[in-house]
Amino acid sequence: MSVSHTLGFPRIGNKRQLKFAVEAYWQGKITQQQLLEEGQQVRASNWQTQQQAGLDYIPVGDFAWYDHVLNHSLMFGAIPERFGDASATDIDTLFRMARGQAPSGQPAAACEMTKWFNTNYHYIVPELKKNQTFKLDSTLLLAEVKEALALGLKTKPVLLGPLTWLWLGKIKGEDFDKLSLLDDLVPLYASVLSQLSDLGIEWVQIDEPILSLDLPPSWQQAFEGTYNKLQAHPIKTLLTTYYGPLGDNLGLAVNLPVDGLHVDLVEGKEEITPLLDRLPRYKVLSAGVVNGRNIWRADLTRLTDTLATVRERLEDRLWVSSSCSLLHSPVDLDSESDINHQTRSWLAFAKQKCTEIAVLTRNINGTATAADKAALTDSDLAVASKAASSLIHKPAVQGRVSALTESMTYRATPFKTRKPLQKEKLDLPLYPTTTIGSFPQTADIRRTRRQFKKGEISLQSYETAMEKEIQTVLQHQEALGLDVLVHGEPERNDMVEYFGEQLDGFLFTGFGWVQSYGSRCVKPPIILGDIERPAPMTVKWSQFAQQQTSKPVKGMLTGPVTILRWSFPREDIDQSQSCLQLALALRDEVVDLESAGIDIIQIDEPAIREGLPLRKKDWATYLDWAVKSFRVSAGGVKDSTQIHTHMCYSDFNEIIEYIAAMDADVISIEASRSDMELLNAFEQFHYPNDIGPGVYDIHSPNVPESSSITTLMQKAAEHLPPEQLWVNPDCGLKTRSWPEVDAALKNMVAAAKTLRSCS
Ligand code: GLN
Ligand code: ZN
Repeated sequence: MSVSHTLGFPRIGNKRQLKFAVEAYWQGKITQQQLLEEGQQVRASNWQTQQQAGLDYIPVGDFAWYDHVLNHSLMFGAIPERFGDASATDIDTLFRMARGQAPSGQPAAACEMTKWFNTNYHYIVPELKKNQTFKLDSTLLLAEVKEALALGLKTKPVLLGPLTWLWLGKIKGEDFDKLSLLDDLVPLYASVLSQLSDLGIEWVQIDEPILSLDLPPSWQQAFEGTYNKLQAHPIKTLLTTYYGPLGDNLGLAVNLPVDGLHVDLVEGKEEITPLLDRLPRYKVLSAGVVNGRNIWRADLTRLTDTLATVRERLEDRLWVSSSCSLLHSPVDLDSESDINHQTRSWLAFAKQKCTEIAVLTRNINGTATAADKAALTDSDLAVASKAASSLIHKPAVQGRVSALTESMTYRATPFKTRKPLQKEKLDLPLYPTTTIGSFPQTADIRRTRRQFKKGEISLQSYETAMEKEIQTVLQHQEALGLDVLVHGEPERNDMVEYFGEQLDGFLFTGFGWVQSYGSRCVKPPIILGDIERPAPMTVKWSQFAQQQTSKPVKGMLTGPVTILRWSFPREDIDQSQSCLQLALALRDEVVDLESAGIDIIQIDEPAIREGLPLRKKDWATYLDWAVKSFRVSAGGVKDSTQIHTHMCYSDFNEIIEYIAAMDADVISIEASRSDMELLNAFEQFHYPNDIGPGVYDIHSPNVPESSSITTLMQKAAEHLPPEQLWVNPDCGLKTRSWPEVDAALKNMVAAAKTLRSCS
């Protein structure tokens, strides 16, 4: 019989119970005991959901109070010294490492957090130092395993593999080769395997998703030795990889001394034949066919056919699973009572995906029930209705994309020609000052938006309140003496949701929450079909703002790549197509803003860099369509209209030519924390357009000194001529308070004046 399982289940709870419990605990509103009980309930319910769906093995150890990478750092005793003599079994140690503080224990600087592969999940970066020592404390994991066993579940513990954990770690202090720590780390894994074996566990899942990356040869070579050492145990190991095809790691992966290999057959469909050809005869292949990171219902008939062919080759050595952990999928579609019946029939969240896996498995095992056969028919109906739906397929939108001409993907003239025209029109001083867009989102603003959404206040009183807010924001900026103003974005709850709600082709869920980091969840919109703009989205607000002042006010838009990246994408067309559709909708908005008298328009693209594919060979294709989409959105305006863009990171070294190819007249970037060193990339490339390297970190409540801003900008001027430089913060100001913002911007404007007087 083929075995069914998932690689992991969302840990937040179907109503975000874990988030609320953890936050209540941090705020001292519940005791640690209450928190532990809530966690236990969430786990039990996750396991039960999977068992009731009919899955054979239940993953245990996928749960985390904050992050599963952090769980492993604690289990190995990789706790930085600044956290004192902390116990690895105390969840307050874990919270202090993640957030710098917890209800008990001394506060200390939190560990870094960064994006997990190519997802929007963030993990806590393990800190590794030279001569790092490890010490196993697997109490928390073993307790969860015992908990599952006590419920009578067929338990499959999940570990993050030693190579991936090390790879994700960051060296602190003196540099060294991280692989040198492997010999000390692997015995700890061996001990955990023995402990699990003592509990009667048969299979353990070991995740090594770095097998989907370009690995240096030394890392590739380290796999074999590592898994040889772990093989010596009676327990069986299922090595998993996901998020991409194995590529040049395929030969390595199939031959590792493990008992089973799990592969992502959504991202790596094309590898099924070489996998079958090269998989040793004793080994299990777990086929990840149900997409773990999107929300679409699987085509069960097509997948049954695929799996049936594979089963002919592998027989009982075929397992059926999700492509990756269901961590990135919302929990339960049954909560979405507001989505109409037909649209709902196209979707599947984590709970529904478990059922899909179980149905597929029974189908290929020849044990399908009447209900399983009905599920196949339902799936066929969903496929057919989706293929024919006018909600999804809009010939006019597709026609516009195919009619895109080369000239629409460029500004009419080069930057050299545009710059003097813009200068003449805008008449800005040297070192112009501006901000990134948002201003403090006060409790008042958020309440007004909420009341309007719930229908508690009229459109008119909502608009009056927002206009008043815009006036206030403008008054502050005028009093501060900023050169290019913004309206402050009070009407936006979120930079993607705001646009998604006004564009046709998007679907919003009520409870489609996905963990972003720790207790933070996001509810990404779903790109349901072809995208078009029924009406202008921002023009009224920008025009109102511009009418209040004689200074230029920037129009403010979210770019096509960012809207795409922070939504659930379609799977029936290439993502580049959705991106171009978004680009055309935004292009219309940009042109409308220009006609409404807006001379500067900013198109934010903070997500371009994180969209980079896992493998370098795929970068150029992605960057080509991403940059093209940006240019389509920006390309409809006159030479004298100034296009800005903004990005919240600083590492441009490898993509600088593409950043230049976006051809924004002005780009603002994060820079303060890297001491302007990032400008090296721009200098060496002779980046031609204007740049605003952020002069202070908006994530910190600290008010920057005017002198430190001056010094930073002087450093910037060593890299690039002053005529190219703008002065602005690192990012939007929405999370800050007004006193902080006023004080910081006052110093920023003073610094710009000093710089001008020295030039
Ligand atoms: N314009 C947005 C803001 O200021 C940009 C946010 C972002 O870069 N993530 O809030
Ligand atoms: Zn930003």
